[in-house]
Amino acid sequence: MRPVIDIRNVHRIFESEAGCAHILHNVSLAVDPGEFVAITGPSGSGKSTLMNILGCLDKPTAGDYYLQGLNVAELDDDELTEVRALSIGFVFQSFNLLPRLSVIENVMLPLSYTNLPRNQREMRAVHALQAVTLPVDHWDHRISELSGGQMQRVAIARALVNDPPIILADEPTGNLDSANTIEIMNIIKAISRKRLVVLVTHEVELARFYASRIIE
Ligand code: ADP
Ligand code: MG
Repeated sequence: MRPVIDIRNVHRIFESEAGCAHILHNVSLAVDPGEFVAITGPSGSGKSTLMNILGCLDKPTAGDYYLQGLNVAELDDDELTEVRALSIGFVFQSFNLLPRLSVIENVMLPLSYTNLPRNQREMRAVHALQAVTLPVDHWDHRISELSGGQMQRVAIARALVNDPPIILADEPTGNLDSANTIEIMNIIKAISRKRLVVLVTHEVELARFYASRIIE
C-alpha cells in the first residue's frame, strides 16, 4: 500500500532581515489511506508550518513531498491548484468563511472553479451541509448570524464539497467551547471513516480519544 502523504527529510527555514528561523528540522512522515493522524505540540513548534506544506500552500526549503505518489516539487502552479482543489479539504481554527455570503454560497465556493451547472453545485452543497447536520433553516443565513460551532460546520461542509480524499484540520476546535468541540470532533471522526484526516490539536486528550495515531 502506497502512503497518500509521504514527506521525507523536510526542512522549513524562514529568512528575513532579522535572520533565519529554522522551524522544521528533518521531518519525515508517511500517512496511509484510512488513517486519522493527530499532530500535537506546543504553540510555535511548527504545526501550522507543516500543515501548510502538507496542503501544498507552502513548499519545504529542503526535502521531498510525495502526495498520492506525485512529487509536489515538480508540479506547476496549475497542477498545484488542481491538487489543492480536488484532493484536499482544509479546516482552520478561525473558520475562514466569507462573512457577506450566505451559508450555502460559502459551501459552494470551491465549486465555482468547476464548470458544473448551478443546480448541481447547489445539490453538492446540500449534501455537504447534511453531512455536518446544519439545520436547513440556516442554509440561507449570513455567516455573521451563526454561532462558532455552526460556522465550523459550514467550514467543514465547504472542505467536503469537492469530495476530497484528504482532510487537513488545523486546530479546528481552538475557538470553540467544550460542547461544540465534542460535536465538531464527532463530525471529523465520521468524516475519517471515508477519508484520510490529519488533525492538529494542542489538546492531547482529544488526540488520544479520536485519532488512530498521534505524532508529537
Ligand atoms: P504552531 O502552529 O505549532 O503554533 P507555526 O507553524 O504557526 O507554529 O509557527 C512556528 C514558528 O514559525 C513560529 O515561531 C512562527 O513565528 C514562525 N513562522 C511561521 N510562519 C512564518 C513565516 N511566514 N515567516 C517567518 N516565520 C514564520
Ligand atoms: Mg498553528
